[in-house]
Amino acid sequence: MPSEDLKQILEALEKPLRFASGNDYANLKTLKALEPYMAHWLEKALALPLSPRRQELFNRLMVQVKGFDGMDLVKKKAQVLEFQKIFNDLKCEDSAPVPCQPWPTLAEFRQFRQDLQTPIQYIKGVGPRLSEILKKKNIRTVEDALYFLPRFYQDRRQIKTISQLAVGKVETVMGTVRQAEMSYYRKRRTFELTIGDETGTLVAKWFHFNPRYMKGRFRKGMRLILSGEINLYQFQKEMHHPELEILEESEETSNAEGTSSGKGGVEDSLHFGRIVPIYSETEGLYQRQRLIRRIMKNVVDLFAAKAFSGIPEEICRRQRLIPLAEALRRAHFPDPDEDIALLLEGKSPSHRRLIFDDFFFMELGLALRRSGTLMEKGIAFPISHRYTQQLRELLPFVLTSAQERVLTDIESDMRQPHPMNRLLQGDVGSGKTIVALMAGLMAIEGGYQVAMMAPTEILAEQHFLNVRSVVEKLGLRAALLTSSLKKNQKETLYREIAKGEIHIAIGTHALIQEGVEFHKLGLAVIDEQHKFGVIQRATLKKKGYNPDVLVMTATPIPRTLAMTLYGDLEVSVIDQLPPGRVPITTRVFNEKERFRVYRILREEISKGKQAYVVYPLVEESERLDLKDATQMAKHLQRDIFPEFKVGLIHGRMKSEDKETIMADFKARRIHILVSTIVIEVGIDVPNASVMVIEHAERFGLSQLHQLRGRVGRGQDPSQCLLVAKHPVSEDAGRRLRVMGQTTDGFKISEEDLVIRGPGDLLGTQQSGLPDFRVANFLRDFDLLHEARQEAFSVIARDPTLSLPGHILMRETLKERWQERLALATIG
Ligand code: ADP
Ligand code: MG
Repeated sequence: MPSEDLKQILEALEKPLRFASGNDYANLKTLKALEPYMAHWLEKALALPLSPRRQELFNRLMVQVKGFDGMDLVKKKAQVLEFQKIFNDLKCEDSAPVPCQPWPTLAEFRQFRQDLQTPIQYIKGVGPRLSEILKKKNIRTVEDALYFLPRFYQDRRQIKTISQLAVGKVETVMGTVRQAEMSYYRKRRTFELTIGDETGTLVAKWFHFNPRYMKGRFRKGMRLILSGEINLYQFQKEMHHPELEILEESEETSNAEGTSSGKGGVEDSLHFGRIVPIYSETEGLYQRQRLIRRIMKNVVDLFAAKAFSGIPEEICRRQRLIPLAEALRRAHFPDPDEDIALLLEGKSPSHRRLIFDDFFFMELGLALRRSGTLMEKGIAFPISHRYTQQLRELLPFVLTSAQERVLTDIESDMRQPHPMNRLLQGDVGSGKTIVALMAGLMAIEGGYQVAMMAPTEILAEQHFLNVRSVVEKLGLRAALLTSSLKKNQKETLYREIAKGEIHIAIGTHALIQEGVEFHKLGLAVIDEQHKFGVIQRATLKKKGYNPDVLVMTATPIPRTLAMTLYGDLEVSVIDQLPPGRVPITTRVFNEKERFRVYRILREEISKGKQAYVVYPLVEESERLDLKDATQMAKHLQRDIFPEFKVGLIHGRMKSEDKETIMADFKARRIHILVSTIVIEVGIDVPNASVMVIEHAERFGLSQLHQLRGRVGRGQDPSQCLLVAKHPVSEDAGRRLRVMGQTTDGFKISEEDLVIRGPGDLLGTQQSGLPDFRVANFLRDFDLLHEARQEAFSVIARDPTLSLPGHILMRETLKERWQERLALATIG
């Protein structure tokens, strides 16, 4: 345990950080002069006798706090997160070694797994109504319940009397309802509850509430427990919107509970004198805290001990992980001496263990998939460069050295007798399509077919138009498969693909899911990784193909994250734009300055340039405050730019119509193309030099970046004009500022990561990764890194997980990944 001095210093250091992170970081604005304050305490700390690790951590803090006071809010937030991580390590550093859980046999383990699947209705207290509510929260089994962690915790180790409550502090108090009424201050409606005990009275106030619900909820004489910050108003202690629990047995709870527990000691010790879990804010559950708590207690008592995931002891020791069973127990019912702040932040030893578990098994699967891929049998393409050489001669430009480097990577992958599994990252406009096409030609040279998949039909069409114009010159055939094809057209295409007469088939991912059979599929190119997910590969294999896979993404994922998440992919980066690109100027306009935007459009078009105008919606909808593409296209044509041709394109149009519009735009028959975000990806018209984005405040950062990437593709300067309705929210303001500051996709995605968090950026759902039960990418990023290293080193030592100490871990892995881990290697 840390010495007293150290403890004091840690507390002093942490106080401002806690404050700063409060209110979802809204407090950061008011945090002043952190630098000198922290430096003062850090010097004190470093003067103490410290372990080398602690010393290093304190030194890291010292370095990182430099310059803090001058940072902007986004940076500050990231920095505070960083400090908190270091703090965590500082606190854990020398906590006592953890006990190990007894190691079950395989038979016992399987029995445990089975027991944990017991339906939740079998637990005492769970009636039909409750089990319906639980089902909505996806809690069906006792295991689901075990992982349904409290939303937060309340410190009821000390329940005070009203006279003991200190103003300005968050306190918990017990009392009896004296009065419950609605009152009006000026026009504001307030619900007031007067609570009394033998030492005084306290008023609880609600300013937002449902009158019917609140009135029916309280009766005089009812015993309550309340928790919240104490305010003083006209000498009266108050709590506003307190957390509250009714202590009397309500009808439902007493029914459900039967006669087994009265109001005796057992019952009280669950709800008082301890750190108490508060579950879900969901309607129906939140009001039944006591019932839920009892049910959870049952579940934990009966089943937590059966939770076991098989992470080797050695790793648990190295990573200071408490046993899974203990983690689950303490996450629900913390031990008396636990640090409530850590619990509330999701950083207690229990949370740490559960998070590590999540990450570890994800990374283990990735590591395994990667090692499996390396060993799997695939196609060793005999590459002659017959077609790629011809293509190079046809191109009006030479490839950049970044493109060449990536092609070398791809070629060497394709020559290997194992399937390629490569992620190609490159900012918008960096020229990924041509690289993919070259790869496709290499496959075709060996007599194989290529499937090219895009996330939307419009993008598939765009690819098709580009690809066809090139490959036809080489005497090859490309085909576009979309849902709008007529039945007989489709059947003809299917036949031609099956016979191998089509060399490149382009479409959405329906291409590999529907009845398409290839003659000899050699390479699958998947555009826009994050919209597909790694799972596509498994689908292909199920169909009996084991092609090389090239995944392209234009949404740059920060390198660290890409490595961590797509650990089973090799990554190549095109980090260079084609030469001669003139940077895009980005400016933000207020709605009211629209005439200036129109003036710029007119000037550019008069110079022979073209423009995009993007709206968030296709047509007028429920949101009347939003301008929609259809209406605005009409308006622009008729009222603003009668001298130019305005076109409209959106995702709901027929694909022939889309094709015509795109062809017209390319041929400059259309000057202004109004669209929805369907042009987000892929459209390529170098002569378009202005991008207007309406309601820019509503778009996400990466979306804005993608849209902007549609211009700046020619030799002349381009502009991106963001029109936003002011005032914008804080986050939106931040996004617009970032757009004005940089065009570097990596910087943008890193900022995006700070604003939104990486889970949002990628979505485990779509990525084909197992869902996390507790972990959170951003908050727990350090732990992710540790878990990754451990997992990869396990697989390096035991690629099939067949060592005796790894068997249970393997079982857990298979269960968590299920069919997503399409690997024969681990049987
Ligand atoms: P991405 O798909 O990476 O966003 P594209 O493949 O659509 O980018 O390429 C953007 C534009 O740059 C296209 O017009 C393409 O023809 C052009 N381009 C690609 N590579 C080069 C290069 N090496 N030199 C000049 N222009 C290039
Ligand atoms: Mg592209």
